[in-house]
Amino acid sequence: MSADRRVDVLVAGLGPGGCAAALAAHAQGLGTLAVEARGPQGTRAQLILVRPGAQAALRQLGLPDITEGRRTTTIRQVENRLRAALTAAVTAAGAAPPPPQSPHFSLCWRTSVAALDVGNDHVQVTLRDETTGALRHLQARHLIDATGGRLEALGRPPREAAGPSHWVITAEYTQPPWFEGIVGVRDRSTQELCLLFPTWGRRGVIAYLDALPGPGGDGLLLAQRFEAIAASLGLGPPLHPATAVDVFQRTLRQPSSDRVVPIGDAVGTVDVLTGNGASTAMEDAVQAVQAVAAAQRAGTAAAEAALTRMANEQVFARHRRAIGRGRLILAVRPVLERAWPAATLPHVGRDDVGPPPLLWPAVRLVFGRRPQAL
Ligand SMILES: Cc1cc2nc3c(=O)[nH]c(=O)nc-3n(C[C@H](O)[C@H](O)[C@H](O)COP(=O)(O)OP(=O)(O)OC[C@H]3O[C@@H](n4cnc5c(N)ncnc54)[C@H](O)[C@@H]3O)c2cc1C
Repeated sequence: MSADRRVDVLVAGLGPGGCAAALAAHAQGLGTLAVEARGPQGTRAQLILVRPGAQAALRQLGLPDITEGRRTTTIRQVENRLRAALTAAVTAAGAAPPPPQSPHFSLCWRTSVAALDVGNDHVQVTLRDETTGALRHLQARHLIDATGGRLEALGRPPREAAGPSHWVITAEYTQPPWFEGIVGVRDRSTQELCLLFPTWGRRGVIAYLDALPGPGGDGLLLAQRFEAIAASLGLGPPLHPATAVDVFQRTLRQPSSDRVVPIGDAVGTVDVLTGNGASTAMEDAVQAVQAVAAAQRAGTAAAEAALTRMANEQVFARHRRAIGRGRLILAVRPVLERAWPAATLPHVGRDDVGPPPLLWPAVRLVFGRRPQAL
């Protein structure tokens, strides 16, 4: 890449939000470069829900049924499906004759945004090749920040605390589930909640341990309890080491006011308990890119600036609504938790875990209807 290369849109980060943004930018005919700090293979085992709004956004991108008729899937599955679509689009764009007329579309894996300088009519970006350490520069008319908030370290406005934090431990196991649907167990004294989900095709189990929201918490201690619970349930060795995450609610104080358009977790964290973060990121992405495309076609610098501001405000407002739903679920967690069978953790047997009453009506209410398989 030459030092002065220009693109219409630089998508930074290829999680669910960034992948959807890159596909949407390509579909809008914008010259697009998408960069991802990690490699092309998704590895994250977290369960995600693809909500009806996200299914609709993905349909617009030519991905009518990413979950093959399921409501839930893993973040790995979604990332890998989206990344395969991206790779196919890059190949097709490269083959389209004559190249100068077709909008450029390319992907760089193991490449990070290392610095950025936002000007009036473009963003000057420094990219770092994570394999060689080499730096290169480009100008982007808009930058879609899909890094999950990591550009804060490069001087972008920080997200602020917006609610209580709570620890979540999660891991995936390859032993087929012995149970149907979703099962769980809670500890009355600690108010910890352990949930077990079958994975895609019932090939394994994803386990979550959620601690009560509140200040403090000890991730290491909770990770040890999680391992003891997994051993008691005979889940076997995890596919990857269990991940302990301090899920704290944070959000931007106000919409971005320049050419950097944050989406997904870069706007704010949507609480894990709603299973909604990835869906929200994908919905943000499609909305943001459509608005950025309209801004770039506006014709004057003033109109482009006004439409960019509007794009940021729209994404910010819809994302805040999703965050609000997450906070609501957190607020009623002590009540929801009582629906699960009780036992003393970590010493819990397979007979102790079970579904709560009215599981599926509740799932439909909170998470939306199951998508139609095509
Ligand atoms: C323990 C846990 C459980 C969760 N469970 C669920 C769930 O059940 N359901 C659900 O929907 N959500 C869940 N989430 C949240 C969900 O993972 C996020 O909301 C979702 O991944 C956000 O997507 P995103 O595209 O905004 O960002 P991310 O998925 O965070 O992707 C950001 C990407 O940017 C890349 N990146 C970072 N910095 C740079 C840089 N400088 N340059 C280039 N690339 C960069 C990263 O490598 C990453 O691939 C969970 C999260 C956690 C931590």
